[in-house]
Amino acid sequence: MTGTHQTGNGQRSSANPLNILKAGLYITATPIGNLGDITLRAQETLKNVDFIACEDTRVTAKLLAFIGTNTKMMAYHDHSDARVRDRILDKIEAGFAVALVSDAGTPLISDPGYKLVADARARDITVTTIPGPCAAIAALTLSGLPTDKFLFAGFPPNKSGARQTWYGDYNQLKASLVIYESGRRLAASLADAAAVLGNRPVSVSREITKKFEETRTATLSELAAIYADIDPPKGEIVIVIGPSVKEEDISKIEIAAEEILGKALKHMSTKSAAAFTAELTGAKKRDLYQKALEIEKSRD
Ligand code: SAM
Repeated sequence: MTGTHQTGNGQRSSANPLNILKAGLYITATPIGNLGDITLRAQETLKNVDFIACEDTRVTAKLLAFIGTNTKMMAYHDHSDARVRDRILDKIEAGFAVALVSDAGTPLISDPGYKLVADARARDITVTTIPGPCAAIAALTLSGLPTDKFLFAGFPPNKSGARQTWYGDYNQLKASLVIYESGRRLAASLADAAAVLGNRPVSVSREITKKFEETRTATLSELAAIYADIDPPKGEIVIVIGPSVKEEDISKIEIAAEEILGKALKHMSTKSAAAFTAELTGAKKRDLYQKALEIEKSRD
């Protein structure tokens, strides 16, 4: 059995001969806020499949009403019983065309679908895609941060300790880091990222494609302070954190940080000097504090 299929739309002879779509699983992206972003192919697909596997039938019903179709729907989640997956895949093997959608954006991206596609591949079932909106990609393009290399990390853990460990895994990453986060946890999450990754450039995009779309850019510490001072922002949020700086730049920053620290120690306490230097250089406060202790010891 090979893993290669000819994909794309075309005529078929199937359980439903009037249908213009070949049997298969159609991964179909939907808008992330602005219904006008539904693509022509997504509309054609959702109108012509035999049924749509979706996260929440009430949410998808609104989209179907917007495009003027009443295609049958069935609920699907990755935690659905394996029998539900089998039932969908049996139908496709019997000749049905089935679309997979999530509530918004691209299915499988922090959304259900991975297990269904994996099982479809294992059964050599045709899988094809109707690409479209994805909040992670939209936010990356809005961020002004490097787009040549990026890593999508999904949602961080809810609790601060686990979140810091999670951010720590990306400490050496030489690529932009794209994260989904809730408004309620935004300020704390940015502060945890700053504590672990240093004071890197960041962008926070909210309500992309919607009426109150906004993107703020600054450093992690600056945005953490701004969001800690206001009510948690409403709506949906993507954070993009700039890559860790190059090795040669790190040594330049370290030299500059040491000079600033040395001077600052003449005017303020060890703790304040470390905090002040961290703010100016983006170097880690903890490391600077240790360095400050060493400098003071050598001066004694
Ligand atoms: N599959 C979706 C996609 O392709 O983007 C993501 C689904 S995930 C369950 C939902 C998260 O995506 C939200 O909590 C938020 O972080 C992000 N998101 C979705 N729509 C967004 C929007 N319009 N603006 C900003 N972030 C959005």
